Amino acid sequence: MITRLVEDHAQALAGKGELPAFVYDLAALREHAAEVKAALSAPGAPEIFYAAKANPDAPILQALAPYVDGIEVASGGELAHVREALPDARLAFGGPGKTDDELRLALDLGVERIHVESPYELSRLADIARTSGREVDVLLRVNLAGDRGGVALAMSGPFGMDPDLIESCTGILENSPQVRLRGIHAHLASGLDASAMVAQSAEILAWGRAWLDRVGHTGPREFNLGGGMAVDYSTPETRFDWKQYGADVAALAESGETLRIEPGRSISVYAGWYLTEVLDVKKAHGQWYAVLRGGTMHIRTPVTKQHNHPHDVLTRNGDGPAVAGEPVTLVGQLCTPKDVFARDVPTDRIAVGDLVAFSMSGAYAWNISHHDFLMHPKPTFHYVDA
Ligand SMILES: *Cc1c(COP(=O)(O)O)cnc(C)c1O
Repeated sequence: MITRLVEDHAQALAGKGELPAFVYDLAALREHAAEVKAALSAPGAPEIFYAAKANPDAPILQALAPYVDGIEVASGGELAHVREALPDARLAFGGPGKTDDELRLALDLGVERIHVESPYELSRLADIARTSGREVDVLLRVNLAGDRGGVALAMSGPFGMDPDLIESCTGILENSPQVRLRGIHAHLASGLDASAMVAQSAEILAWGRAWLDRVGHTGPREFNLGGGMAVDYSTPETRFDWKQYGADVAALAESGETLRIEPGRSISVYAGWYLTEVLDVKKAHGQWYAVLRGGTMHIRTPVTKQHNHPHDVLTRNGDGPAVAGEPVTLVGQLCTPKDVFARDVPTDRIAVGDLVAFSMSGAYAWNISHHDFLMHPKPTFHYVDA
């Protein structure tokens, strides 16, 4: 699971006292992104806009740039950051609660598409475009996420407009010639495998085509089918079936349509590791614990996903406490019982001084974590390349 590049780096970092650390393997990232892009090369296959919120680090964005068609940003902060890291990238701007300042920034920084979340947002955007004498291209975000059983995260709630609310956009658009309706956006769920994702894409297309027909939309049409491609932390070697998805979705496209997706997690998650070391090993109330340097203030992922984060133990032959052949719970340095990386995992042997490499830490890891809790030192960051 750990690449040779990252393992070598881990030993070096331990020697220099630079753990915990996030290490990103840019060669592995490029290889994975190239495979995804190749799977989406059939005529009609969707464009890829990488969702920056999964991991917006500049070296990650720059490594991905040759393999993606653009970047999706979800705030003014991401927008400014991505524009700086990738001055020429095509950008789409989505997300609820966009402020006037953010909408103005989007126009200033040349965002190609704005994904509009509500009629009120649309009317504010129309005003901003009119008063600044500019045109703006939008997709309307529809929320068809009424009932999505079994998915990791259904995007029901305040995201986009349900089929009733989106009707209110038609009057605003009629009176706003500076706003060009390009099509429909939908990001309905995350954690879907390829077949489920194809079925969901077909559902979005069917709904979107009928709606655009009915409101008299003419000209080329775009459908952003969202992100949420499945990532399975319990079997890190499995991957979303991009080949199947690419072929089946391409077959859904009709002439005059551009399809687009905006995956995040499934693109960058496999390229990052959180590396740390064992500070203590002990038994409490019948349960073995390994206490690791750092904690979930650096990688909140196992807490939010409530899973055992996949990892490898790299033995270093220290002479401190150890346990072998027992289930071990890996915890961090926080004073809370919630600071758990993985619970009760069968472990050959783990000892003080060993290194632990948490894989699948390239997305929604450092950047979703509460870094300052307890004021431990921050991890160090490394972008390694072949
Ligand atoms: C978070 C998000 C994505 C990316 O989702 P992943 O699960 O990381 O693929 C795409 N689109 C929107 C609107 C999002 O909010």
